[in-house]
Amino acid sequence: MTIQNNSTDDSEYSEYEPTIGLEVHCELKTATKLWCGCKNSFGEQPNTLICPVCLGLPGSLPVLNKKAVEYAIRIGLALNCTVQPSIFHRKNYFYPDMPKDFQISQYDIPINTDGYVLLTDGSKVGIVRAHIEEDTGKSTHFSSSGRIHESTATLIDYNRAGIPLVEIVSAPDITSSEMAKSYVNELRNIIVATGATDGKMEEGSLRVDANVSVKKKDQIELGTRCEIKNLNSLRSLGKAIDYEIDRQIQLLNSQKKVIQQTRHFNEDLNQTVTLRTKEEAEDYRYFPEPDLVSLNPTGEWINEIKLNMPKLLIDRRQSVIELIKDSKEMSQLIGTVNTLVDQQLDTLFIETVGFGSDPTLTLKRLTNEAANSIDAAKKLNSKELAYLINLETSGKVSSTQSKAILSNLLENTSETVDSIISRLNIQSFGDKEIEQLLDNLILEKQDEFKRFVDGDDKVIQFFIGQVMKLTKGQANGKSVTQILLKKRNG
Ligand code: ZN
Ligand code: MN
Repeated sequence: MTIQNNSTDDSEYSEYEPTIGLEVHCELKTATKLWCGCKNSFGEQPNTLICPVCLGLPGSLPVLNKKAVEYAIRIGLALNCTVQPSIFHRKNYFYPDMPKDFQISQYDIPINTDGYVLLTDGSKVGIVRAHIEEDTGKSTHFSSSGRIHESTATLIDYNRAGIPLVEIVSAPDITSSEMAKSYVNELRNIIVATGATDGKMEEGSLRVDANVSVKKKDQIELGTRCEIKNLNSLRSLGKAIDYEIDRQIQLLNSQKKVIQQTRHFNEDLNQTVTLRTKEEAEDYRYFPEPDLVSLNPTGEWINEIKLNMPKLLIDRRQSVIELIKDSKEMSQLIGTVNTLVDQQLDTLFIETVGFGSDPTLTLKRLTNEAANSIDAAKKLNSKELAYLINLETSGKVSSTQSKAILSNLLENTSETVDSIISRLNIQSFGDKEIEQLLDNLILEKQDEFKRFVDGDDKVIQFFIGQVMKLTKGQANGKSVTQILLKKRNG
């Protein structure tokens, strides 16, 4: 457990353990909204993507978007859920960003139930449900804090009202802020891979609410929880949870009670503050939505969705692992494989290796050298990339040269490797040329060479330096080493 505030000593913390459950709202990438034909789009002029249905005007009726249901099912399948017949409910509450005064959501019979997410360290977080609901509009409060208190005016944009969401509710299986971040990161990667959502936390298309409670380790029942709303980065998620754990332990330690509340994380103050005393489900007066029939996806349709679904994240990682499994560095490369897949470069990787390039080197070049230009990297021609990597493995270009060529290729992915080589006047120093250079150097630097022959390997670096000077950094250091060793061994 990470503790930010050291006002209490650690021994008092060690008696407690936190329990964390997360609710993740993700916007679906449908072309239109959940109940109407309005465009589902971010960043447009306020209140231009609206109609009587998403404004909840009297007499308007919702019509369910089939694509949204398909995306929700994809998410359910990717999270190992049971997909079941479900119904919609009205969740009644007043808030100005919700023009209907109720949200159409799913309550006791959601479309997806009972799944799980495996984290990269092998631990498992249960998924209680993943249901469909509509998003609300967005309000902007004019006050120094940006919050409704003390604000002098509020502007409302209904473009977001009615955008389809899937809300993914985890079991309270999470025990630290680190685990919470790792869960959200993995969950995001899984659902983005289904093609159902873009998972952009910074644009608000993925938002996290954290339920946090603490209890004494020997206590069976959970402590009173507080819910922190709308965390929109992994960083704030971690900080808010740490602050909240600390706050609750301090309350309990001074014999005070934790009051069930909805709280808000203030990024500037780095602390959570009370938003409202928590409502219970009864407060929402849930009742079945009278304007919609129950949702009964047929087994046939679910199967069709399963068959046509983009490859699952776990399978994509496996396909990459298959290609590097013989690498000596395999165990250190697992994190790199995850990065490659998260950056959507795995297809390019597989194609490139298919053209005969060394898998480990290809993986490294794509995750290190291409890391700062992912968008360009996605446009790389796999055949050209394989050609470049093969030039490097066969020693025709040095690793420094290879990186330079790659960075040029990333600047203009339609240029060929050969044209870059001639444009940059890159000279290839094969083993023969390097041996020639070394022979001359050895004559000049007889003392150093003698020390090397006598077993001082540090001198190798000296010779590499000399060769690099002569070739303006264009020789392959590995070849220099190999040739020197050959000379010494006979
Ligand atoms: Zn509309
Ligand atoms: Mn919700």
